[in-house]
Amino acid sequence: MSQQSTKHEFRAEISQLLNLVANSLYGDAQIFIRELISNSSDALEKARQHNILTGSTSQEDPFQIKVSFDKDKSELTFVDNGCGMNQTELVEFLGTVANSGTSNLIKQLSSKSEKHELIGQFGVGFYSTFIVAKTVEVTSLKQGDDPKNATMWRAVTGENSYETMPAEMEQSGTIVRLILKDEHKEYLDRWKLEQVITKYSDYISFPIMLEKQPIDESSDDSETDDKSDAVVEEPSEQSPEWEQVNHASAIWTRQRKDISEEDYQSFYKHISHDSENPSRWSHFKIEGKQEFSGILYLPSKAPWDLAYRDKRTGGLKLFVQRVFIMDEADQLIPIYLRFIKGVIDSNDLPLNVSREILQNSRATQTIKQTVTKRVLTMLEDFAKDTPDDYLKFWKTFGNTLKEGVGEDFSNKDRLLGLMRFSSNKTDKEQTLSLADYVARMPETQKKIYYIIADSYESAANSPHLEVFKKKDIEVLLLHDQIDEWLVSHMNQFEEKTFQSVAKGEIAEDESEADKQALEEKTKQFDSVLKQAKEILSDRVKDVMLSKRLTDSPSCLTVADNEMSNHLKRMLQDAGQAVPDVKPTLELNPEHSFVEKLHNETSDEAFEKWVNFLYGQAVISESGQLADPVTYIKSVNRLLEDLI
Ligand code: ADP
Ligand code: MG
Repeated sequence: MSQQSTKHEFRAEISQLLNLVANSLYGDAQIFIRELISNSSDALEKARQHNILTGSTSQEDPFQIKVSFDKDKSELTFVDNGCGMNQTELVEFLGTVANSGTSNLIKQLSSKSEKHELIGQFGVGFYSTFIVAKTVEVTSLKQGDDPKNATMWRAVTGENSYETMPAEMEQSGTIVRLILKDEHKEYLDRWKLEQVITKYSDYISFPIMLEKQPIDESSDDSETDDKSDAVVEEPSEQSPEWEQVNHASAIWTRQRKDISEEDYQSFYKHISHDSENPSRWSHFKIEGKQEFSGILYLPSKAPWDLAYRDKRTGGLKLFVQRVFIMDEADQLIPIYLRFIKGVIDSNDLPLNVSREILQNSRATQTIKQTVTKRVLTMLEDFAKDTPDDYLKFWKTFGNTLKEGVGEDFSNKDRLLGLMRFSSNKTDKEQTLSLADYVARMPETQKKIYYIIADSYESAANSPHLEVFKKKDIEVLLLHDQIDEWLVSHMNQFEEKTFQSVAKGEIAEDESEADKQALEEKTKQFDSVLKQAKEILSDRVKDVMLSKRLTDSPSCLTVADNEMSNHLKRMLQDAGQAVPDVKPTLELNPEHSFVEKLHNETSDEAFEKWVNFLYGQAVISESGQLADPVTYIKSVNRLLEDLI
């Protein structure tokens, strides 16, 4: 090459990444084949899409990927006639980290110890070639550019720079030429290559052509034996012969029975950039008024950005009549299912469909509804078939799924059916379904009870649970951030309403005798309650005797229609204005502290006791005292009396 080459430095983090990839993925070396073929396939999809959109008919060769090798030179070459890259793109795509996931990966690499796992989670793509190659050379011509304007990109493993130089190519596309390291020469073997390609890339919808004979064997004497005159070799014998080694049909168009588990898994890795296998998938074909097919995958691990609803890398890959249209089409699936990966191939959408058209199309709505139902069915089957694995899914994706209860009214019941909770009768793990809860409710119980707190411990030990424990009633313990929002949307399940144990009346299973006893007590405590209410008038709405408490002396409650104290605290923490509704202080008349109030003659001591009981109630629900000093002083005063 006589033309001028330009030297570029890899960005520091890329060098770091290259070294890490080369070292930590040593054992998975063969993934470079999958990654290169996957990139070629993407490029071919884009080229085909480009041709269709521009009405171009100048395509000479069929779209395909060619793999050839030369043992003597240790060369392994991948050629595609896809969209190609110009000089700027080569520098941008192969020399910097474009993908936000990857830059996040690099940030984490310095801190985390499980580097192998991390790299696997993000997908290494093109850089995997550095595991096996001494030199990586990419020559590319962008679709539509002058054949004289191709560019070659070259890097030597272990160096921190790469060079680019002008080149020529006959047709647009990309040639990736690797000079393999001595210890990876096994990939210069036809049998080995075919084995890896069919194992990991059979789902690719373009033909993958593997060179039939290594070039050095074309001069083998055995085949020229019967030729009387071997002076001139036919040119056709010099150029390699090719054999197609894959099915080359879009995997979703094939019959389920003809697709192996491995094919499904490889295809998942291709579209998701996840190195783990998916935990389940659903392959379907819809016929009738609207026709579309697809495969939906449930990943086994959460993507790093699962929590971000707006910055998500969600959505499905969209094809129209086998032609690739776009990645991450998030119009096709609700936001709360953003962890689902997959493809949809529609026969109804136009080939030039844009995101805007997609947004407003009726076809999109139908696809979205069907996709949602498919995913829910997949999850229901998951929970039924392998309940233990489903709990792992729930742990990872449960909070995301909960968003759906408020967002997807038409599927609310099915979503509620998929929820798992902990309760005062289970351990900390969220394993209880609402169906199981309802199934073991006694006849007399009319509602589904729950409590919300900041943590499992705070929920499990709440004074509000005391009477439920005594009466052996099951209460759901909710303690995830999103749960306040969740309960505001889950009005009913199997015709049972939900009831917070910290709110309003709890008339469950109350006997006439109990009622009378309480009325009697309330009369006795009349002056105590009045006096306490006066003292606390700026903090509570009312002071009354409690039906909830058995062990604790006091707790706070709000009315059914009022905002819970927990939600109020959450909103306050988020800097939002909250309505100024005061809670009710409930006192346990059986408790000795409350008894004490009854007999207290000193006004000063009475006030200390009231402040103390109020403070305990606030603290027991992880609340914050507006005036902790007064509380502490009251407690200290009371303790001093004991000394
Ligand atoms: P990813 O495929 O996840 O984007 P890669 O490291 O595999 O990451 O590739 C980086 C980018 O380089 C691709 O997104 C693509 O734009 C470009 N690229 C790689 N290989 C090819 C190819 N054969 N043809 C055209 N572009 C390619
Ligand atoms: Mg790639």
